[in-house]
Amino acid sequence: MTMSALGEPCVLLKLGEIVLKGKNRELFERRLISNIRDALQTVDIKVDVRKRHGVIAIFLPQGATAEQADAVARRVADVPGLIWIHQAWRVAKDPDSVLKAALELAGESEEAKRGARFAVRSRRRDKRFPMTSNELDRFVGGAINDEYHLPVDLKNPELTIFIEVDRDEVFVFTGGIPGQGGLPVGSSGRALVLMSGGIDSPVAAYRMMRRGLHVDFLHFSGIPFTTSESIYKAYALVRKLDRFQGRSRLWVVPFGKAQQSIRNSGQDRLAVIAQRRLMLKTAEEVAHRIRASALITGDALGQVSSQTLANITAQDNAVELPILRPLVGWDKTEIMAEARRLGTLEISELPDEDCCSLLAPKRAETRAKIEDLKQIERRLDAEELCVQLADSIQEYTL
Ligand code: ATP
Ligand code: MG
Repeated sequence: MTMSALGEPCVLLKLGEIVLKGKNRELFERRLISNIRDALQTVDIKVDVRKRHGVIAIFLPQGATAEQADAVARRVADVPGLIWIHQAWRVAKDPDSVLKAALELAGESEEAKRGARFAVRSRRRDKRFPMTSNELDRFVGGAINDEYHLPVDLKNPELTIFIEVDRDEVFVFTGGIPGQGGLPVGSSGRALVLMSGGIDSPVAAYRMMRRGLHVDFLHFSGIPFTTSESIYKAYALVRKLDRFQGRSRLWVVPFGKAQQSIRNSGQDRLAVIAQRRLMLKTAEEVAHRIRASALITGDALGQVSSQTLANITAQDNAVELPILRPLVGWDKTEIMAEARRLGTLEISELPDEDCCSLLAPKRAETRAKIEDLKQIERRLDAEELCVQLADSIQEYTL
């Protein structure tokens, strides 16, 4: 779209689930606007983010280019809490200004050049406008029809001109891109993601950011018995996901020696669950230190032997914080499709030496007994060990 003297360029944002909020809606909206402002700091243009009735408008400076408007729209499309992002013109609040903008928008659209079927859809958030929505539809639709000889199709148009009458201005636009949906990051609090280098945990992190959690990332590396590759992968994954929340931190625990102690405990079949419990206990210690109030994992019921119902129970038993498992009901193919969409799949698929491969037994226990696990932990002095592990943590801030 080219910018014109007919109006000012702007980007119009439609809110998702926030609109269902009652008394708290203000709070969610304020959080969302602040997240949008933060996200736009990476875009090279000064903008003005304004709350309107039920929508948010981003005003661009007069003379902003189409590329700049595009960059703003694409950036906010990653901010959870929005369902639609429209590049629009903001025009004066009178029927003739609206008509001029609509004619120009329709005229320069690819659809119009092919003689597409079109419709005009108007709504009034301010009922004081001199025309009703229906009158505006017919006024603008008739003019487009006269000017470009396009056929009207109200049921199944190929081109739709949207007109939204607001308190101080009218927004006119044709298309839009879908947003992430969900709730503004931070509105649900803070949590800590257990982040392997695998496919599932980055997707789990994204799903919970989308439900309003700001997350930190915790990775257990097999160091000193493995290379640092898994750390690079975790870091690359965190970088990939940072666009949804900003200010991401990756914490890395050197876990190799603790794993060795678990292996030396001689309980081969329980090693994986014992290790997972130790990770969770350490994660809980870290969560307290950074004031996170939940843990997040990429577990999916039945995906591997550590994720049977009995073994999930044994893991929940290890900590007091809630363990959120957003992927619990997902199939691997669904998780992979989402990872591809997010851009994390190609990173997750890079080879690495996961710390878990150090102790994969021939036959893993699918029904671990909590008493047996507690016995291993007493011998390891797990309570003390997880404090030491938390002390040895390294921080990587983006
Ligand atoms: P993923 O693809 O996320 O690695 P997975 O299918 O490999 O999952 P598991 O290895 O059983 O499954 O891990 C289950 C969950 O435990 C992971 O989703 C992650 O939350 C956590 N986890 C496993 N290994 C690590 C690790 N090295 N560091 C941090 N968290 C881990
Ligand atoms: Mg894994």
